[in-house]
Amino acid sequence: MYDLNDKKDALIAAAKRCFELRLQTNAGGNLSVRLESADAIVIKPSGIGFNECTRENLQVVHLNGTIEPSPHKPSKDLDFHLDLYRIRADINAVVHCHSPWATGYASAGIEIPCLTVQTIEKIGRMPLIPLSPQGGPQTEKEISPVFQDPKIVAAVLANHGTIGVGSTLMKAQYLAEIIEETAHIAYVRDTLAAAHGLREHDLPRYGTAKEASQAQTA
Ligand SMILES: [Zn+2]
Repeated sequence: MYDLNDKKDALIAAAKRCFELRLQTNAGGNLSVRLESADAIVIKPSGIGFNECTRENLQVVHLNGTIEPSPHKPSKDLDFHLDLYRIRADINAVVHCHSPWATGYASAGIEIPCLTVQTIEKIGRMPLIPLSPQGGPQTEKEISPVFQDPKIVAAVLANHGTIGVGSTLMKAQYLAEIIEETAHIAYVRDTLAAAHGLREHDLPRYGTAKEASQAQTA
């Protein structure tokens, strides 16, 4: 596993950045990265905060579910992380946070609109994934079918949090930031629109030239 320490260091840096940006406090959320040198990932264990990740406490888990010896409990999110790597060869990193603006939308059962030029281009759509029918947080049974669509790079978990995936840890990390930023912007837009009595048709219509040309040819 020649890239193990490099991947652990990248994960520690991404986790710190999430903590500093307040995308994830306490020991919730999780992030992981795929190793190039083995059919395995590096993932944060249960009970460790994003700001407390170290080379020593991160776990190595093989895609078949075998966990390398570790004194820590595996994360509750481990199964859905593993499954995302199994179903999508283009996914090399997963960042899952309970960031407050996005999770507010998720708890209201409202899909976060991709309303800026950047989110239309970079994300397109972030589906809202309902809670597990057994109760409790979403599992791979609810999450993986949504990510079977190779265009999906971000999703929001009802009453729970967000998922960003990417070909690199940095890309998945940026998505976690963009999801939260978009939820904040959407809240401000909708609050201002309500305060000023604006309706859908009063708002700017097309975020991108592609959208405008699609609407004209439709
Ligand atoms: Zn979670």
